[in-house]
Amino acid sequence: MKFAIQSKEDVLSENVKKQMERYFQDFQIEMDEENPDIVVSIGGDGTLLQAFHRYQHRIKETAFVGVHTGHLGFYADWLSTEIDKLAEAIARNPFEIVEYPLLEVLIRYRDGEDSRFIALNECTIKSKGGTLVLDIQMKNKYFETFRGDGLCVSTPTGSTAYNKALGGAIIHPTIEAFQVTEMASINNRVFRTIGSPLILPKHHTCLIHPNGDTDFQITLDHLSLDEENIQSIQFRVADEKVRFVRFRPFPFWNRVRDAFVADDNRGI
Ligand code: NAD
Repeated sequence: MKFAIQSKEDVLSENVKKQMERYFQDFQIEMDEENPDIVVSIGGDGTLLQAFHRYQHRIKETAFVGVHTGHLGFYADWLSTEIDKLAEAIARNPFEIVEYPLLEVLIRYRDGEDSRFIALNECTIKSKGGTLVLDIQMKNKYFETFRGDGLCVSTPTGSTAYNKALGGAIIHPTIEAFQVTEMASINNRVFRTIGSPLILPKHHTCLIHPNGDTDFQITLDHLSLDEENIQSIQFRVADEKVRFVRFRPFPFWNRVRDAFVADDNRGI
């Protein structure tokens, strides 16, 4: 079993990384930056997103665990003061792996080329200027023409991130689905969109075609891409899954409550 550590690279995360490396040496845990079986991310959710994209070529082999050096994260749920316990749990082996759905994004360009991406949180589409206008197909049938600021297409684990800020639903990550949420759609007597977040099951696709401008600003988690000459973008639940190492239970709804509902909000 080989390990790598991804740090946020601020002073605190670097210190925690050094401590973690010392624990790993004590427990004779082998490190491998290139081909790790387990990646310990030290920082925040953003650090885990970086680790996920860095090791995407090993998605079937690599599992992740997150330590937070700031506030409690959705992916980073170990405290920096608990890393001795984490190193011990890692050394003890075996451990449980939980797998969650990812989003596949397939971009087709007008020259016939295509690019495939995987997102852990979400993909967003925005125009590079002016109103974004897209024709949207659900499961190969025309659904609507969207006009507005943008679209956010998220995974269940990403449903608590950007999607939540857009009024999307929180989806339990055992549900294999993806969600499409609007960013400020234009709705009046002339233009109309559904207005509600849509949740699509596995094997359903959402396909968008530019209606006008074919250049977009696309984000994949923390990454931002300027894409030009786009023919279409297809979203679906990816065949691959993200793998997290679970050393102790932390039920999803507890995580949601701890992150978004005040501690003292326990009813009367
Ligand atoms: P960042 O590290 O500043 O992250 C932004 C915030 O999103 C942090 O508080 C982080 O803890 C939280 N976050 C990330 N993933 C989460 C998840 N799955 N569930 C709940 N909270 C989560 O910025 P970054 O490193 O560039 O992270 C990129 C992410 O930021 C994107 O994937 C997107 O989801 C999120 N984001 C959110 C908004 C918003 O809420 N309005 C806007 C842009 C981006």
